[in-house]
Amino acid sequence: MPELPEVETIRRGLAEVLPGRRIAKAVASIQKMCVSHLDTCIADAVAGETYDQVRRIGKILIIDLEKVTLLVRLGMTGQLTFRDPKLQDDGQFSVHPVTGLQRAAQHAPDKHTHIVIEHSDGTMLCYRDIRRFGRWIAYPRAEADSAEELRSLGPDPLACPQELEAHLLKALAKTSRAIKTVLLDQSVVCGLGNIYADEALFGCGICPSRPANSLAPAEIASLAAFIPPMLLQSIANRGTTFSDYRDSSGHPGSNQNSLQVYGRYGSACYKCGTVLEKCTLGGRTSTWCPRCQS
Ligand SMILES: [Zn+2]
Repeated sequence: MPELPEVETIRRGLAEVLPGRRIAKAVASIQKMCVSHLDTCIADAVAGETYDQVRRIGKILIIDLEKVTLLVRLGMTGQLTFRDPKLQDDGQFSVHPVTGLQRAAQHAPDKHTHIVIEHSDGTMLCYRDIRRFGRWIAYPRAEADSAEELRSLGPDPLACPQELEAHLLKALAKTSRAIKTVLLDQSVVCGLGNIYADEALFGCGICPSRPANSLAPAEIASLAAFIPPMLLQSIANRGTTFSDYRDSSGHPGSNQNSLQVYGRYGSACYKCGTVLEKCTLGGRTSTWCPRCQS
């Protein structure tokens, strides 16, 4: 599932190619994926509009057109790619046996491509989502920043790294929920998911099941200092790809090679050699080292 670094990698790619391009036509084949707060459906509303900028808050991608703003949530398997038909698909075209994902740098729309935006110059923006949990939400541009989806979010760790410690000190004192569960709560801090929450807790030596309000101020300070550089490092690696995540040009990231604990339960801790354990918190699996984290 794409988290902050993956969505930011997609954003940076799209920010290079979308602004200034004009939308000729859009087709959205699955209506439940689209929520319009406009007078018309999303496909009709965006036709004729020109892209202005591509922003991000947490895991939400924000595409500003002239009069319309699109909020895009990638869900579990959403892929948002820019397709230039003039470019050749790469030579590695094949289908992943489990996910059905086409391993091409850019692929033509297929049965999992649910939204296609065609531009006046022949290029396209394609949204492909095998499990269909993604959502496109449209607002009049003037109302987008006060949208419910954005108002309910806590601070983005990369937008305000200096204020993260003070914010976490206040927020974590208020709850006895497990620290792992609290880090996943987008209203506390937005952008972290299962991968980066597990990695941050390992990096700071904190057991994921600890009540948030049991953390010492020094532990909270270490989390606040660890999270932004961890996210930036993953962005430098173009995100983490386990199965479906692709950047805006269709390529996988490489941060999965740098992960310390996520998904490694049953294997030896890289720091101390102890076998990593897993536990379930808030319905999500956490991987942690019983020796390095307390
Ligand atoms: Zn360890």
